[in-house]
Order: sequence, then C-alpha cells, then structure tokens
Amino acid sequence: MDSEVYKPSRIVPSVDYEAEGKQFGHLTIPYSRNDSAWGSMWLPIVLVKNGEGPTILMTGGSHGDEYEGPVTLLKVAQSLDPGSVSGRVIILPALNLPAVRAGTRLSPIDGVNMNRAFPGERDGSITHMIAHYVYTELLPRADAVLDIHSGGKTLDFVPCAVMHELMDKALEERTLAALKAFGAPVGLVLLELDNEGMLDTAVESTGKVFLSTELGGGGTLSTGTLRIAERGVYNVLHHFGVTGPPAQPPGAERAAPTRLMHTPDTLCYVAARDSGIYEPLVDLGASIEAGSAIGRIHFYERPDRPPLELTARRTGLVIARHFPGLVQMGDTIAVVALDYESS
Ligand code: CA
Repeated sequence: MDSEVYKPSRIVPSVDYEAEGKQFGHLTIPYSRNDSAWGSMWLPIVLVKNGEGPTILMTGGSHGDEYEGPVTLLKVAQSLDPGSVSGRVIILPALNLPAVRAGTRLSPIDGVNMNRAFPGERDGSITHMIAHYVYTELLPRADAVLDIHSGGKTLDFVPCAVMHELMDKALEERTLAALKAFGAPVGLVLLELDNEGMLDTAVESTGKVFLSTELGGGGTLSTGTLRIAERGVYNVLHHFGVTGPPAQPPGAERAAPTRLMHTPDTLCYVAARDSGIYEPLVDLGASIEAGSAIGRIHFYERPDRPPLELTARRTGLVIARHFPGLVQMGDTIAVVALDYESS
C-alpha cells in the first residue's frame, strides 16, 4: 500500500461472514445511472457457516452465458444444511450479475470480461469493482476457490475440471488432488493463451488452491453436465473436509476415474485462418492424429473458391470446439488435449 491510505471496497455486504448458519444476502454495489439516481446493484451471495473448518469460495456466472455454475450453485445454496458443514461456504452464483442478466460473456455495462478484471479496481467500472471486492474481501477469507465455467455460447467442451501447471509444485500437487476429487470425466491441465487478469492467476499467486471447470457450453445446459457439476461441488466440499462423503449413485451411474489430460503448448489450439461457415470433420471427444484434417471453412459468397482445410497439429482428444457455425479469422475452432502423466 506504500504511504497511501488503504480504502476498503465501496461494496457493502448484507451478510455477516462470521455468523453461524445459512444466510441469503447480497453485496450492495453503488450503481448510479440515468434510470436510477441513487440506485445500487444487488449481487447475490449465500453463506453457510458452522463451527471450525476451512472456507471454500464457489463462484458461477463469471461469464454470463455459462449456466452449469449458476444453476448448480443455486441448488447447492438451497440444499446445503448448515448442520452438515464444518467450516464455511461462500457462494456467488452470478459473479458478473449484469452479464448473467443479459446472457452475455462480457458485462453489457462496461464491456469488461470478469475473468480478465482481477485484481480489480476500487474505483473502476462495475466489473472491476466486483473483482476488487472478491480480491480484497473474499479471497483473504478463502482457503480454496472453485470457479465453475462452461464453454458459453461460442465453445463446447468435453466436461472437465481445469487447473494450471504452477511454479509452486506443492500447490500444484494440492490442486491436482482437488481436480481428481472433483470427479469430472477429464481433468485438464490447461495452458492459457492469455492469463493476465484472471481470478485463477489472482488466487494461485496467493498460494491457495484454485480449481475451475469447463462443463459443456453452447450457451445452454444438459442433464449430464449438470450432474457432473453438482457431484463435483459436493466432492470438492468433501475433499476439503467441509462436508461428509456424498451419497454414491448406484454402480452403473458411478463416475469413471478422471482422465488426466493437458494442453502443453499452443500447437494444441487450432485457429480459423479465414472467415466463413465451419464444417467439423471430427466430433467433440473424438481422437485425432497430428496432421489430419479437423474441419473446413466454407466461403458462402465465393462458390468458386474451394473450402479451406484446417489440420490438427497435435495427436490427442478434441476437448473443445467452436460452437456456432459461423467462424471468423482468429477464432479458436478446436483444442486438442494430450494424456498427462503427472510428475
Ligand atoms: Ca468461461
């Protein structure tokens, strides 16, 4: 802070972080605007606390077009019995509330991507103010963070829990244990193309476990991805000792062990080298060989022009793909993941 006087966030919680039991409340964000002179925005927060134990922060709706997070966390908030908790669970089901309201990736108010706004700004625009509150008020209270993402309107993923390779190998080991505990079909050690300003980076730099997910996408929900999300949340709470073991579903529905995969370099990413209509040649979740065609871009205004073929540069599993049919030059149209041997 140097010689500057530290000013706390302008956002005010209606919940008491030290109170026992369950509280449904909100964070009051000052938001004066043309249609509401002394208006504020109420960002929902749910707190479940009982006795001693770790604090787990769980967030959904960082991007407003990803729905497994909000729906799962709303269900968990409703059903979590404080009597079954040892410690504290802080739930923000709609972290970027304006974006969730609009069903858009970015906030329609300031155009900011919540997951590039960290550590935030006290006097910044609304997305930066929320990020600043999370960074200065919630992260110091948390022992671990689970941030539930999906592909959104433009990507679709093989459902996976996601972590990063970390410089701090002890932290990487603890994060890997949480990733396996989540119990998604795939555990992905992801190379970010652009990690500045992410909640991930902010938490990891404090030495705490940060786990994310990519569960489906396309701007919708499925029964399968919701089942994975809900089971994953309870598995993670149990992993950290906050709740007891979750009830096991009957044998046939029991989750297979997580397949560990990674994207070690940018060769795993396939970008559109032109704009047009994308024809996938390989489905999501299929295996592909390096050098083989993964899809084509068709030029609907130029029938004389043959389609542009895009090839995979890595042998592995198609873990993500572009969702809408229209692609623009520079879009990520597929991601190939390789099996990962943890050291
Ligand atoms: Ca996302």
